[in-house]
Amino acid sequence: MPLFPIFVKLEGRAVLLVGAGPVGEAKVGGLLSAGAVVTVVAPEATPAIRTLAGEGKLVWRQRGFSPKDLDGKALVVAAVPKDVASAIYEAARGRNVLVNSVDDPDNCDFYYPSVVNRGDLQIAISTAGHSPALAQRIRLELERQFGPEYEPWIQQLGQARRNLFASEMDPDERKQQLHRWSAGKPGMVYLVGAGPGDPELLTLKALRILGQADVVLHDDLLTDEILELIPSTARIECVGKRHGDRQVTQQEINRRLCEYAAAGETVVRLKGGDGAIFGRASEEMDALRDADIAFTIVPGVTAASGAAAAAQVSLTDRRLGASLVFLTAQRCKGNPPPNWKAVAQLGGTTAIYMPGGHEADLARQLLDAGLSRDMTCFVVASASRAEERVVETTLGQLPELPQLPAPALLLIGVLPGSATVGESRQRTTGKTRKSGRGH
Ligand code: SAH
Repeated sequence: MPLFPIFVKLEGRAVLLVGAGPVGEAKVGGLLSAGAVVTVVAPEATPAIRTLAGEGKLVWRQRGFSPKDLDGKALVVAAVPKDVASAIYEAARGRNVLVNSVDDPDNCDFYYPSVVNRGDLQIAISTAGHSPALAQRIRLELERQFGPEYEPWIQQLGQARRNLFASEMDPDERKQQLHRWSAGKPGMVYLVGAGPGDPELLTLKALRILGQADVVLHDDLLTDEILELIPSTARIECVGKRHGDRQVTQQEINRRLCEYAAAGETVVRLKGGDGAIFGRASEEMDALRDADIAFTIVPGVTAASGAAAAAQVSLTDRRLGASLVFLTAQRCKGNPPPNWKAVAQLGGTTAIYMPGGHEADLARQLLDAGLSRDMTCFVVASASRAEERVVETTLGQLPELPQLPAPALLLIGVLPGSATVGESRQRTTGKTRKSGRGH
């Protein structure tokens, strides 16, 4: 017999769950989130079900199943051994209540489908029990085809549809408009951190999303090796601030992100390190929010982590300090300078981004704020890249150091130097370590 597919509103309906082991527990969440009024019958229950009962989210009757439990129920889910399930199934059929017995097709009136869940867009798959493996494959394929961007998009379509119905539009014209909208595809922006340069420091997620991109907007920090991972089908736009003679303003970048996504493209904004650290991510998010465009943030390995790895130091050491400060030597116009005294008093590690050319100034400020001239200091250029360079020095000697090529980062603080850690480590001031990348 063919199955009859339906989506059921369970809100306010009484549903019985028999069995409260791990299998039963796995069924509770779905029922509750659909608004069902759940009664659980079982002599024993998992801690999670006990908690839900304690919180009044469901009723737990601590005993075995009795046919009377079926009275007034819309559905029954049985998460019990086969013999109990068949007794429940018999009793339920007599009362015309629909039953699902988990992993027991003989005692089922209905099955749980495999579901692609994108908020209000749900795609359910059934093979009537012939091949759960095929159902799973189809689900994974559909999940790829209908990505997370469909969740906000379906809301937007719904809102637009309600607006049309509230207007005076001619019904035929309205119908055509609704079909045109649904024929599009939702645009999506991914704000992706690419790490400090080594392509192996991209996250798996970043790599996967690059593979789906229609267009990639990247900045100057991206290495060729990473750009080579972008599929040839995608358009690549360099919007780095220092690129060529033409400057692409932040406003222009925001505008392009919104325009491409509104045209239904999958847009990747690819930035060095982590986009949310000194990367103007919040300005882009504001623009996307204003334009009602869905976006997803993919964090990356920030330069400070890359630099610490290159210098073979830990950014924190519980024996020596309890703080890690990320600071930039560049400031937005009008913003006050950092509170150097506060930074010095924290006593931990300070990672200074974009120090280029300001080293002497930074060193003086930190010395004035009370840090010691002997404090360990690393300058790390091109962390994780082939041309990586690490120079270990002290705060006192930092101003005399020849400047390293950009991008470079300063690590200052209780790194490996002082106290116990220093004893096992030779410190050569001003020594350049050409560490290169390990493979
Ligand atoms: N969002 C980035 C930082 C952008 S600011 C991140 O999270 O890493 C740019 C600064 O980052 C550069 O001036 C430099 O200080 C630092 N930086 C980026 N990549 C670097 C690298 N591979 N090695 C050293 N410093 C780097």
